Amino acid sequence: MKGILLSGGMDSTTLAYLEQPDIAFNINYGQLPAKAEREASRKVCRELNIQLVEIDIDCSSLGSGDLAGKGKLDVGAESDWWPYRNQLLITLSATKALTLGCKELIIGTVASDSYHKDGSPEFIDRINALISFQEGGLIITAPGIKYSASDLIKIAKLPPHLLAMTHSCHKANLPCFECRGCNKHQNTLDDLGVL
Ligand SMILES: [Zn+2]
Repeated sequence: MKGILLSGGMDSTTLAYLEQPDIAFNINYGQLPAKAEREASRKVCRELNIQLVEIDIDCSSLGSGDLAGKGKLDVGAESDWWPYRNQLLITLSATKALTLGCKELIIGTVASDSYHKDGSPEFIDRINALISFQEGGLIITAPGIKYSASDLIKIAKLPPHLLAMTHSCHKANLPCFECRGCNKHQNTLDDLGVL
């Protein structure tokens, strides 16, 4: 059985459409746009007939940057960096995925995410090695990691109505049109020639 970590953003939604996992995991970990991400994930899963597992664990006291509504840490990271966020989310979803019988967990990382170390191919290799080494042998894959967000959408031939369901803002449940998430969303639409 195949699972996916689904934020309801463009990349994980496109991979859900392309890879047709059996089950999706959406996590409210205390991020500011949690409600919109959950709603987008519900719509996408309903549309694609994927079982959605909703996980609620408030980690907001540990967060930093845009997603936590806090300042950026002085460690050379971007404004939306939350320490070990992907590691945290992969661990939480992998824990649930294994108990449900998944053999593979898909992560929605794309090429442009490597401005964070935890969005790089090296990180995916390392987290896959660490988790698959443990009991159950669950593997972590990132099928979109070589592609830009817009190329992935083109390859998948993502229907526009699914694209319209996605939520990308890091700061709020309604797009703020100024954060890195909103900028990436708009740049991707520009690349696709969508007004
Ligand atoms: Zn925003």
